[in-house]
Amino acid sequence: MNLYGGQVNKLIEELESLPGIGSKSAQRLAFHLIGLPEEKVNRIANSMIEARKNVRYCSCCCTLTDKEICPVCANKSRDQGTIMVVESPRDLAAYEKTGRYEGVYHVLHGAISPMMGIGPGDIKLKELITRLEGDVNEVIIATNSSLEGETTAMYISKLIKPTGIKVSRIASGVPVGGDLEYIDEVTLFRALEGRVVL
Ligand code: ZN
Repeated sequence: MNLYGGQVNKLIEELESLPGIGSKSAQRLAFHLIGLPEEKVNRIANSMIEARKNVRYCSCCCTLTDKEICPVCANKSRDQGTIMVVESPRDLAAYEKTGRYEGVYHVLHGAISPMMGIGPGDIKLKELITRLEGDVNEVIIATNSSLEGETTAMYISKLIKPTGIKVSRIASGVPVGGDLEYIDEVTLFRALEGRVVL
């Protein structure tokens, strides 16, 4: 039933297509947006457009950034020889929140999943291997403890071991299948400290 005319429905539809937004939330957001001052709505819309246009992968660690090199990679006080491999920029953010990791990251943008047809070539693995030609002391694999995360961890460790670079895996204690971003900082830090050499 078209209660409000096409434009309101269109807005609700677009919002509803976003992850985690059901039809009720979409409706609530739509009415909220319509009730805002026009200039505020322009700011929100522009920040979406600008981010979409300018955000790209860090040329070093592949996280999202609007710079050539992200702030973590550019930070000279970070230990550039320790690379933590994570699945997504959200996982990176979760570890940054602990405030206690001093190395740098590598973001895979996914995990190997034979069931979903995602192979090693579909994630940012080549980029990681290229980085290992530099001065690297340790690679800490912090993929999720899901089946895909474990498969990816195993694949990476097999790839790196022949190079002689130390490879470790964050400790279990991170709930199985748990997305890293939902785990509290203390648990994450313990998982990092308790990592085991593979
Ligand atoms: Zn970076």
